Amino acid sequence: MTNAPAPKPWIMGIAPYVPGRATSEDGRKVAKLSSNENPFGTPEAARAAYRDAADHLERYPDAGAADLRAALAVHYGVEADRLVYGTGSDEVLHLAAGTFAGPGDEIIHVRYGFAVYEIATRRVGATPVVVADRDYATDVDAILAAVTDRTRVVFVANPNNPTGTYSTREEIARLHAGLPASVLLVLDQAYTEYLDPADDDGGLELARTAPNVLVTRTFSKIFGLASERVGWGYASPEIIAAMHRIRAPFAFSIGAQAAAVAALTDDAFVARSREHNRRWRGWFSDQVDALSGLRAVPSKANFVLVLFEGALTGEVAYKALMTAGYATRWLPGQGLPQALRITIGTEEEMRAVVDVLRAEVERVA
Ligand SMILES: *Cc1c(COP(=O)(O)O)cnc(C)c1O
Repeated sequence: MTNAPAPKPWIMGIAPYVPGRATSEDGRKVAKLSSNENPFGTPEAARAAYRDAADHLERYPDAGAADLRAALAVHYGVEADRLVYGTGSDEVLHLAAGTFAGPGDEIIHVRYGFAVYEIATRRVGATPVVVADRDYATDVDAILAAVTDRTRVVFVANPNNPTGTYSTREEIARLHAGLPASVLLVLDQAYTEYLDPADDDGGLELARTAPNVLVTRTFSKIFGLASERVGWGYASPEIIAAMHRIRAPFAFSIGAQAAAVAALTDDAFVARSREHNRRWRGWFSDQVDALSGLRAVPSKANFVLVLFEGALTGEVAYKALMTAGYATRWLPGQGLPQALRITIGTEEEMRAVVDVLRAEVERVA
């Protein structure tokens, strides 16, 4: 045994990522409200483009993703040569850590943050520095106070996952202004399309003008392409060129790229998804707040973090929902045994979830 290959100690320090469930403990298929996917599915144009790509499966994809970059440039007004892409924005987050940090360096993220940040940090041998929240929301002052001369990267999701909380444009600008120029600020905007346009946090503008800001985006959430693993990042030409050195040469398939390009053309799908989400997120949050001992953390994303602060616990609620056929995300491993993260699904699903929660609150009272 002593001669067996030894994993690096920082790799063994990683707690494996736990994905959202689609089945119950006894294997029954349940409604999946555990991974923040789009209840409307995928735009029809994207599905058609994906089917057409099946005629070219013998070819390697274009390593430069020229079609995708051109489409993103038109859609978002970004420069095609300042884009990097990856196998989901997960890979782009790993590229950021791997390009700018290593053993002896520190990477900051918030306590209730996206689980991938800690994995990406430890994977490269860097040290995660975890900062406290302000009633579940990102605390800019706490982040700035945690910066040392070893800090290389700060990961901030806006809106944040799993809390759904949101930092205003002013807060993001203040965070950026307070960071040393040598620290890369990664603004993870996986849920940005769910925001009202007035809530834009100015991330793309910052990444255009500042030499130390990377914005990441994904096709996994509002665009309904989680299975296809397409993510991208926007930053200065220098940052992007460095990250390209270590990305996978063929990050995603021809079908994935074609589907992503086509998804960008369906503005009506995105608008309908955002509108549905706004309406049912508001309704669901109100219903939760009306239940004794439950509280909905104010969310700008396509999910709500429900806090169980009374007789009904997060664990009991999680199991009751699962038994009733609804998978949600219970996150004791992330320090949130008192909470469930629940994706906004269809109207029918949200009404059923509230019925289960109400029945459980009454049962334990
Ligand atoms: C879902 C999510 C992502 C997206 O991951 P993909 O790899 O693009 O599917 C990134 N960041 C956050 C905070 C997320 O919740």
